[in-house]
Amino acid sequence: MAINKTVPQEKVQEKEHAFQEFIQRSGLKTTRQRNTIVKVFFSMKGHISVEELLTEVKAVNPKIGYATVYRTLHLLVESNLVEERRFGDGLARYEGHSSVEHHDHMICLECGEIFEFYNPKLEALQEQLADDNDFQIYRHRLELYGACKDKDACETRQRKKAAEASGD
Ligand SMILES: [Zn+2]
Ligand SMILES: [Zn+2]
Repeated sequence: MAINKTVPQEKVQEKEHAFQEFIQRSGLKTTRQRNTIVKVFFSMKGHISVEELLTEVKAVNPKIGYATVYRTLHLLVESNLVEERRFGDGLARYEGHSSVEHHDHMICLECGEIFEFYNPKLEALQEQLADDNDFQIYRHRLELYGACKDKDACETRQRKKAAEASGD
C-alpha cells in the first residue's frame, strides 16, 4: 500500500548497489532476506516505520520477521543511505537519505501528517547565519510542529488512522 510505483527502478537499483558496497566494505555476508528488505524499503516513499516496512516485506516474503527488518534498517542507517528520524510521537521513522534531496519537515500534532518542504531562501539564510557566527554547517534538521489549517483534511486523516489502528 505504501509502495509508491513512481520510485524509478534505476533509483532503487542505485541504492541497492550502494548498500551492497557497504556490506562488502564492512565484511558482512550478503543475505537474500536482507536484499529483499532493502529493495522494498527503497521502493517506498516517505517516512517509514519498522511496522510499515514489515507489512510490505511480508507481502513479498512472509518468512521475514521483525528482528531481521529491524537489524537491516540499522545497517541502512550505518551505511548512511538512510536517516532515522523521530518526530513528535517518538516513533522511529526511516527515510532514504541523499544530500541532493535535502528537505525539512512540518509535523501536524493532530493527525500526524508529515509535510516536506524545501526553501532555497531559508537554506541560504542558514548559511548566512552560520557565516556571521564563524560557523560551518555540516548538516541541519529543521522540524516545525503545529496543526493543519485544513481542518476537514486533518480530521479525515485522523479518522483514517484510527480505523487503521483498529485493524479495519
Ligand atoms: Zn522527509
Ligand atoms: Zn493534521
